[in-house]
Amino acid sequence: MINNISTMKSIPPKNCSGCAACANVCSRSAISMQLNADGFYTPIFDSEKCVHCGLCEKVCPSNNIVNNPAEVMHSPKSLGAFAKDDAIRLESSSGGMFTVLAKNILDDGGFVVGVAQQNPSQFGFIVIDNVTDLSKLRGSKYIQANVGDVYSKVRSLLNADKKVLFSGTPCQVAALYAVLGRKKYENLITVDVVCHGVPTHLLYDKYCKEIEHRKGTVVQTLFRDKVFGWKLFSMTNVIEYSNGNCFQKKISSHHKENPYMRIFLSDLCLNNSCFECKYAKLPRIADISLADFWSIRSFFKDMDDDKGASLVLLNTDVGELLFNSIDANQIICRHVDFEKVKKYSPRIYSPVQRIDDEKRQKIFNELKNKDITLEQIVRKHLNKLPLIKRIYYKIKTIRYTLFPLFGSHVSNY
Ligand SMILES: Cc1cc2nc3c(=O)[nH]c(=O)nc-3n(C[C@H](O)[C@H](O)[C@H](O)COP(=O)(O)OP(=O)(O)OC[C@H]3O[C@@H](n4cnc5c(N)ncnc54)[C@H](O)[C@@H]3O)c2cc1C
Ligand code: SF4
Ligand code: SF4
Ligand code: SF4
Repeated sequence: MINNISTMKSIPPKNCSGCAACANVCSRSAISMQLNADGFYTPIFDSEKCVHCGLCEKVCPSNNIVNNPAEVMHSPKSLGAFAKDDAIRLESSSGGMFTVLAKNILDDGGFVVGVAQQNPSQFGFIVIDNVTDLSKLRGSKYIQANVGDVYSKVRSLLNADKKVLFSGTPCQVAALYAVLGRKKYENLITVDVVCHGVPTHLLYDKYCKEIEHRKGTVVQTLFRDKVFGWKLFSMTNVIEYSNGNCFQKKISSHHKENPYMRIFLSDLCLNNSCFECKYAKLPRIADISLADFWSIRSFFKDMDDDKGASLVLLNTDVGELLFNSIDANQIICRHVDFEKVKKYSPRIYSPVQRIDDEKRQKIFNELKNKDITLEQIVRKHLNKLPLIKRIYYKIKTIRYTLFPLFGSHVSNY
């Protein structure tokens, strides 16, 4: 018998992050992760397969606080950094430091695990063993990823003495440690992205449907394109048209005008668990944490070229060891005082402020309503941008269209 309500009595469904630790530990395959009515992954239990061993409840990182098995610093060594290679930075959301770290592991014969767009409507974890596939993991996908059985795959690799770099949101890193249990693996390195939350799949589905209604099919989404710079980042969709002959075109709009980004960044449709996130805290869960270094100008003016910068936190000795093994010629990097920099990035140590439940429910109802468009939702619930800002953004887009930041042609649609 299938229950779509959590049978784990101590975990209210609203606290579930969809991390899939429970599904990965159940040896009876009694748990599968499926999208619920609000568009978030949630465990579905088959009570006929369940033998009530209680393991799922025991590992759940929303139910128990999970820790990194290494000693984690409350005030980690912090760096402002970016990859010297413009091609890497262009494709990355921040300064491309994830690629630099991951490449180091791959060059050493290891495996890298992270989130890719597997097909037009599926975002999930993949395991790679070569630098060519690294581009699939590059860039933030602002949607909840399908975890699948990735923690079990990681455990198998670790047990086979392979070196593994696992990357994901803090709740997913916690889930991996929970699944691995007490055993400390010397061959595992974890990287978390500083995370303010994941939006519902309802938002992405509605967004794609609206494009498809007017144009062709969305085959790829870049959530953090830099055609108009890092700070005025854009959402770019690759659209496939098939009226007679098949061709593809890229359509970009910067995040201040894009309805997907406006709704996501307003926090109105995040997963409920994100407002109570147990892993948006210090000490961090992973060996290394990566964030956008939005305040870089206040620290190192000469590093702010609007191509992207990462804030890198070295939380454990394992993380520091990996960072120190990077070829110094590949990056620009400077130390920064953690106590000074953290106040500019509150998601390092605290979750987002909870949205009023009634308002949140209204948004979800509207996302499910075919007769209301995303633009209408934006107009109804979010403030109109002041004219002066709209003029400023227009000038910026024209500037980068005429004089591309990365030397390639920028097209404004
Ligand atoms: C959902 C989400 C929310 C974020 N919120 C913030 C924030 O509030 N403040 C902030 O400073 N930074 C935030 N970030 C992190 C930031 O956007 C960059 O990902 C980070 O700085 C790393 O950038 P990079 O240039 O080094 O590497 P990139 O190449 O840009 O990042 C790639 C990494 O992101 C991981 N990743 C991509 N999409 C997902 C996903 N859906 N789920 C899990 N992992 C994913 C990949 O596995 C890989 O590890 C968020 C990232 C995500 C995915
Ligand atoms: S109690 Fe045990 S068998 Fe039942 S779902 Fe949880 S892990 Fe699986
Ligand atoms: S938080 Fe993770 S482990 Fe807990 S019930 Fe949800 S999916 Fe399962
Ligand atoms: S805010 Fe916390 S619970 Fe939500 S996706 Fe990020 S790490 Fe997971």
